[in-house]
Amino acid sequence: MNIRSFVVATTAAFLLASCGDSGPEASAPATSGVTDAMIAAAPEEEWLTYGRDYAERRFSPLDDINAGNVGQLGLAWFADLDTARGQEATPLMHDGVLYVSTAWSKVQAHDAMTGELLWSYDPEVPRETLAVACCDAVNRGVALYGDKVYVATLDGDLVALNQSDGSVAWRSQVVPDRENYTITGAPRIAKGKVLIGSGGAEYKARGFLAAFDWQTGEELWRFHTVPGNPADGFENDAMEAAAATWGGNWWELGGGGTVWDSITYDPTTNLVLFGTANAEPWNPGVNDRMGSSEDGTFGDNLYTSSIVAVDLDTGEYAWHFQQTPEDRWDYDSNAQITIADLEIDGEMRHVAIHVPKNGYVYVIDAATGEFLSGTGWHPINWSLGLDPETGRPEINPEARYELTGELWVSLPGAGGAHSWHPQSYDPTTGMLYIPANNGGFPYVADNDFEAGEIGFSTGLDNAATAMPAIPEVRQSNLDATTGALVAWDVAAGKEAWRVDYTGPWNGGTLATAGRLVFQGTADERFVAYDSADGSELWSFATQSGVIAAPMTYSIAGDQYVAIMVGWGGVWDIAPGILTAKSGTPRNISRLMVFKLGADGQLPEAPALVERPLDPPPFTGTDEQVTAGASLYGRYCSICHGDAAIAGVLNPDLRHSGAINIPGSMNAIVLDGAFSHNGMVSFAEALDEGNVEEIRQYVIFRANEDKALEAAGG
Ligand code: CA
Repeated sequence: MNIRSFVVATTAAFLLASCGDSGPEASAPATSGVTDAMIAAAPEEEWLTYGRDYAERRFSPLDDINAGNVGQLGLAWFADLDTARGQEATPLMHDGVLYVSTAWSKVQAHDAMTGELLWSYDPEVPRETLAVACCDAVNRGVALYGDKVYVATLDGDLVALNQSDGSVAWRSQVVPDRENYTITGAPRIAKGKVLIGSGGAEYKARGFLAAFDWQTGEELWRFHTVPGNPADGFENDAMEAAAATWGGNWWELGGGGTVWDSITYDPTTNLVLFGTANAEPWNPGVNDRMGSSEDGTFGDNLYTSSIVAVDLDTGEYAWHFQQTPEDRWDYDSNAQITIADLEIDGEMRHVAIHVPKNGYVYVIDAATGEFLSGTGWHPINWSLGLDPETGRPEINPEARYELTGELWVSLPGAGGAHSWHPQSYDPTTGMLYIPANNGGFPYVADNDFEAGEIGFSTGLDNAATAMPAIPEVRQSNLDATTGALVAWDVAAGKEAWRVDYTGPWNGGTLATAGRLVFQGTADERFVAYDSADGSELWSFATQSGVIAAPMTYSIAGDQYVAIMVGWGGVWDIAPGILTAKSGTPRNISRLMVFKLGADGQLPEAPALVERPLDPPPFTGTDEQVTAGASLYGRYCSICHGDAAIAGVLNPDLRHSGAINIPGSMNAIVLDGAFSHNGMVSFAEALDEGNVEEIRQYVIFRANEDKALEAAGG
């Protein structure tokens, strides 16, 4: 240990000791390779962290590619990926090397100029993990620090690789267990602390943000977002305070509030701001987690659906701002958090800008969490408005579906007005570029729901809300499900322009000083818009839907724009017929890189093959179909699609040969014959009679759809 690291380590140990914690000593921050100073400076040629800079603005000062010449943009190189699931990552670029994570948490390093593959790394995530991952085997990116590159794996580990050759420096388990927690988010790093949370708020997870030592992989601190069992004692005052806002035995289901996407370090305050997911389960009628059935009041379930700030050095609670108290609609607050300095009422304010799922855009004080403004930017019916002083929403009583017992179709839907797809923010104009999803989501409470050991656990009656095989109903839902790119003037609190899309689930955005906004789309294009008015200036056919966000860098005087292409994520696997709103989905996973004057071509895409439905005749009973619909809705629909209509990534059971023969699904559903492919055994929840009920339901549904197809539907 040299003198410098000794001094820093001793100081860190003193700080830890002074707050009564006896965690491990932290290594000194990096002094070579990628340093804190470099991330803070955000050199224009490079892209060193997920959101480009600490403030997570995704605004590049590069302007070689600009509104005047973007029409000459062409494909410089591309790399086929060896994973064919959703690609959600933002590549990073340092020292001429492009680092990307792909589906299944793999990592690749490419020569950023030529595309040559320098090395690749596979953490060998067990495919069975897919059964506990709500939303596909995606990964949103790596982190760079010192001489290392970091990736968090779907099965819950944090891995440090050496930038030079991809060899493993260390691998640490982040999650408490691998049955309820998964990780899809990109780590962020500040002052030698690798920050990461997890997903799992639809299973039995207790949310957290944790910091790991960049050199050793040792855990330095962990802040839980929801309280544990009071009988075990509280870890800190913040947990004790939060416990007063919960009812029932909330801890038995974990509580939720997972930190699955946004993590923003603000060097101005030394705080880490992060967003939390919904409480568990979605339907509070299942476990009385809000205490609502006792006295008619509703606990806030802190710190779910909130932005929380903790001290980077210690992980100690600083403040929180809850955006959706009483959440029962899956309004995760996980969208990327952007820091900015804005003039508000004639005064410069250091703020956090956030556009969570719930349909409002928030501006809050980044140092204190004080609510400054909240503006509905999207159709909203769950809330009747925000308190102008506190930002607390007034809940529409009709939206409390567990009490009304009625169908509630919420706007925004559970997919969110805006979800993880990164926004970008141009500090020179104060404009925010938001990928927007339009469409409602239906909720019918199943208050008798009992959470089991397996399966997506929301407490909803998914059979009651499954899309019926009625053409008019399908069409009206399809018509209502759209997307948009929205340019939002943050200081003015109003929309500047928008580009409407056929469907939702379009990619994240990149804004540049070249007066450009780049976005990939669900309908298989990569587009450049004039950031001043939204006019389309250039597009490229990507052959697969794009959900990731682009980035840009410069080498030897040439500016490049890179994007991961590959349709997927939750919108491919869960919404049934709505999945295909932007066109028949296909996944051709690639990393694509563009520059001016290039004229690279993609190989011709394989033709889309029409697959007519050819199910066996329905021979079951109405009782079997009813029971099968309920079981399918609870255990199967999250992966195989609403109403047994799948997207492109997971098998569409209506087409499966296994439905032809009674008993042939038992080997798959009960014995786990395809567990190597993510389809684990459901024997702890289902028996042979249940499997037959599901089989009859799928056959019934397939015949319904075959009849619709024959009728031209
Ligand atoms: Ca959620």
